[in-house]
Amino acid sequence: MKIGFIGLGNMGGGMAANLVRAGHDVRAFDLSAEALARAQDTGCVPAATVAEAVADAQAVVTMLPNGKIVDHLYADEVIGKAPRGAILIDCSTIDVETARKVARDAAKRGGYEMVDAPVSGGIGAANAGTLTFMVGGTPSAFDHAQPVLSAMGKAVIHAGQSGAGQAAKICNNMILGATMIATCEAFVMAKKLGLDPQTFYDISSKASGQSWSMTSYCPVPGVGPQSPADNDYRGGFATQLMLKDLLLAMQAADQAGAVVPMGARAAELYQEFAALGQGDVDFSGIIHMLEASSTDA
Ligand code: NAD
Repeated sequence: MKIGFIGLGNMGGGMAANLVRAGHDVRAFDLSAEALARAQDTGCVPAATVAEAVADAQAVVTMLPNGKIVDHLYADEVIGKAPRGAILIDCSTIDVETARKVARDAAKRGGYEMVDAPVSGGIGAANAGTLTFMVGGTPSAFDHAQPVLSAMGKAVIHAGQSGAGQAAKICNNMILGATMIATCEAFVMAKKLGLDPQTFYDISSKASGQSWSMTSYCPVPGVGPQSPADNDYRGGFATQLMLKDLLLAMQAADQAGAVVPMGARAAELYQEFAALGQGDVDFSGIIHMLEASSTDA
């Protein structure tokens, strides 16, 4: 299939390479010349503009930083430039409202089918082709996007109508943000109460305190499976990306009238942690902030 791929950063670079590996003909564009050169090394054909990348595409995939960029890029450079009948797939994490608006514009102005298909899984999963896609769009749009997404991930799940993929993503990450902080504070308190972290893990990982944050991504070095905590809190999911997702969740909660006190507190605490200059540190590193603000008994 001919695929136009826009946004070849940390995530998009690996995803485009997996489409090439699956036998697709990928024409790629990024504002960064270095990102474009790296994509060329993995077998993508570099394009000089977005319009050139999508000109004869049967599918367009975008992996971009935020909703404003996605909105402008589709409005100015994809809709009306990609052939009618191309399936449009935005994998970026953006707000629900913008995802719905862009899909509406694409249908109205060009008769395109479009899905929002944000991902779970970080750079490692993007490179390995093991992402999970949460997809919002009509059943027909989902069917068209599915083979393209399957080449980049291990699971492709239809979440519902347009915007439902973004809704699933931010609700999931709101749980993650809150459970990570809860897990960190429990480890800090357990230690202050004289419990050995490994012993506490052995108990809680088999009791009702168990969660993904504890058993797959333990925030304490040397405890549980290998995680960013064992690598000085580097190379995982950066605090600034967690904060981005939590702020999108707060925006959506506001618009939907949902009451989310734990999510709101998690957003505040990650804002505090990022303001300490820790935006690039893995989000589980927030355990240091909780430890530092604990007092002696
Ligand atoms: P990134 O900043 O590494 O990559 C974004 C790329 O888009 C950059 O190469 C940039 O040059 C390019 N770009 C920006 N504006 C452009 C434009 N107008 N035209 C063409 N290219 C443009 O970001 P990333 O980490 O790859 O994340 C991409 C998306 O994936 C974000 O929405 C992020 O929230 C989401 N996400 C990231 C992770 C992660 O672990 N990094 C995990 C899940 C989801």
